[in-house]
This record gives sequence, C-alpha cells and structure tokens, in this order.
Amino acid sequence: MIKIINNLLNLHKKHSMNSIDNFNFNSKKALVRVDFNVPLDKETLEITDDKRIRAALPTIQKILSDNGSAIIMSHLGRPKNAFEDKFSLRHVKKRIEELSGARVHFSNDCIGEDATVLSDQLLPGEILLLENVRFHAEETKGDIPFAKKLADLGDCYVNDAFGTAHRAHSSTCHIAQFFPNAKMCGFLMEKEIQSAKSVMENTKRPFTAIVGGAKVSDKVLIVENLIDKADHIIIGGGMAYTFKKALGGDIGNSLCEDERLATCIEILKRAKEKGVSIHLPEDSVIADDFNNNANTKTTESNQIKEGWMGLDIGCNAAKDFSDVISKSKTILWNGPMGVFEMSSFEKGTKSIAIAVAQATENGAYSLIGGGDSAAAAKKFGVDQVVSHVSTGGGALLEYFEGKTLPGIQAIEA
Ligand code: AMP
Repeated sequence: MIKIINNLLNLHKKHSMNSIDNFNFNSKKALVRVDFNVPLDKETLEITDDKRIRAALPTIQKILSDNGSAIIMSHLGRPKNAFEDKFSLRHVKKRIEELSGARVHFSNDCIGEDATVLSDQLLPGEILLLENVRFHAEETKGDIPFAKKLADLGDCYVNDAFGTAHRAHSSTCHIAQFFPNAKMCGFLMEKEIQSAKSVMENTKRPFTAIVGGAKVSDKVLIVENLIDKADHIIIGGGMAYTFKKALGGDIGNSLCEDERLATCIEILKRAKEKGVSIHLPEDSVIADDFNNNANTKTTESNQIKEGWMGLDIGCNAAKDFSDVISKSKTILWNGPMGVFEMSSFEKGTKSIAIAVAQATENGAYSLIGGGDSAAAAKKFGVDQVVSHVSTGGGALLEYFEGKTLPGIQAIEA
C-alpha cells in the first residue's frame, strides 16, 4: 500500500512543472535559457534563419510585459571552450532587438564583472544578452560553481531551451537548484512537453510511429521503447534495408549495418509478442549510384541486385504506409523515408508528409521531430498543417527512448 502511495506521489511530482503563465515578473530579472543556436552565414556572420529566436519570443514578451527584464543565456555552435568570433552571440543581438522591440544590452562574458554591472543596471522592459555560455568549459561539464555565478545575475530561472533539455549542463540544468521557488518552463518548453505527452501519455489510438533515416543504430532505442506504446511502427529510409537483410532479403549496395542484424530480428520478435505491427517497405526506388542523376528503377525491397542501392520507398510501400497513417489517431514521425534531399528520391517522404497532414486534418494528433523530418515537413509544405513540429532533435529522441531529460527534471517542482 505504502509503495502504491509513493508511486502515485512520484508520478504527481514528475508531472508538476511551473509555467511562466502563473508567475508575475514585475521588477524581477529573469534568467532565461533559450536555444539561440541559429545558423550564421560563414562570410557575413548574418543570421540565415531566425526561427529559434522567434520561437522564444512569447516567453520573452511575457516577462517584459509583466514589467520584468530578461537576461538571456544561450549557446551558439560548438566553440572549443574559449572565445571565437564566429560563435559570438553578439551577432544575434540586433535581430533580438528587431523582433522584440526592446532595448538589448550585451555582455562580453556570461559571468564576471561586465555581466554583473549590466545586470545591476538592467531596467524593467529591457533585455541583457549574455555571451555564449559555451565559451567556458564549465558549462558543458555541468560545473556547479559556474552555475551559481550565472544564477547570481538574476532573481528567477526560466528554461525555454527544449533542444538542450537532454544535457545536464550548468545553464540548462544545475542553475535551477539556486531557484527552488522560482524555476519554471517557458512557453516553448511547455508546448514541447505537452506535445510529447500527447503522443506518449494521452495517446489516442491507433498510435503509429514512423521511423526512418540512415541508421538502425541511431534509432534502436526509440524503436524498442515504442514497441511498448505504439500499435503500428513504420520503418523506412536507409535503416529498412538492415531489417530486409535480417529477414533473408538481397539488398545489393543499400545501407546496411551487419552488426545490427540480430537486433532487427529481436525487434521483430518482440513486436510480434506485443501485437505491434511492423511495416517495412515492400518496394524501393533503387539507383546505380548515390546521385540524383543516377539510373533508377523500382523493385521489391528484398530483391535488390549488387551494384544497386535502395534510396527511397517505392509507390506500393508509400501506399501501404499511407493507408496505415490515414487510420491513425496519434502519429509520431522521426526520420525521412529516403534521400529526400535529392529530387529523384523525394517521392516517398513527400507522400508520407501528405498522409500525415491529411490524417491531422481528419483529427489525428501528429508530432514531427528531428532535424531532417522537420526539414522534410517544411520542404513539402505540411509544417503548418501537422499538430506540432518539434524544435528538439536529440532531446525529443531521448524523450521517446524513455529517458529522463535533466533540463526538464531540474525545473520540476
Ligand atoms: P537520420 O539523421 O538518421 O534521420 O538520417 C537522415 C538522413 O538519412 C537523410 O540525410 C537522408 O538522406 C538519409 N537517408 C534516408 N534514406 C536513405 C537511404 N535509403 N539510403 C541512404 N541514406 C538515406
């Protein structure tokens, strides 16, 4: 009995998270961890895509409109623990100013005197942008004294960086301990968590997971975890050929991880035991070279001759998969069905994108995650139609692998 009560209490604990909606930022300096890891033009260092800044704007606006101020912390790129101009957040200051309409100050270091003085002088309605937290080696090591120095700059902590929620870094995780009564998730983080929960916890059935991309090894954990949750798992992309080979098929020069053949058999066996239907592509578009202008033809996916490789699912497979998708009420999609970056091999991914969009219009909940699937959704014009396109690649994968995300755990009450 005590165990059951404890479990219930833990469950409750796991799910309680403070939203910024319930917090009044009046006269407060809010330390906000965002993911402003935006792409910069190599020559001009101008931002080429500002969607990550736009995604965090509602959180920043809420703080400012409450008459608070925002101290923004982020990483940019992968610096080698010291200043590198090409990774300086100075390059994003102007865009934050343009998008927020607020005055933005910039500190040349995320800790130390400059940051402290600027934070002390910060007025309500203003923003202080701190320099890249990863210019300090302590950040990625999750150093606690470093987290404390960051914490000393503000009165409360908001985590709006879902993309780095799977990292136990100083600014994404350890800093939260210094704000036991004033740590919370931003609007973007909240949306991401709610959307992941719509798939994993409040699942409307049938639940179909679509997994694709290059490698089985990258997706093994997610597929294994989904066997306990999904009704259907569709497997496409390069990873499907390791499954086909494991089942005795000929896959020619298609992508294959021989060391994963046994894993594939194990997955198929477990899925059968659990009553989960695994769908593999019946046919494939094959090519005699990894090249958009290669010779191509369509063939059974388990009868690919030497010298040929499967680079997309065929039209029978696309139809099979689309039928399953159309009957689903919850859809998770991670990984393209083929080399969708090349026009000769984009059709399969495109038809799946359309099927997911149509199912959504018919009432299904659809979540698209991972950089390539998000790019595919955009390319095929369905990114505004599906229920949610996640901003988190690795973080979302780890969530669906069943792991606890340190950045989320740290802000749970
Ligand atoms: P991932 O990052 O594992 O989701 O893999 C995405 C990449 O897999 C994309 O760049 C695709 O071009 C690639 N990909 C998808 N299908 C295939 C395939 N059949 N053969 C080779 N690469 C593929």
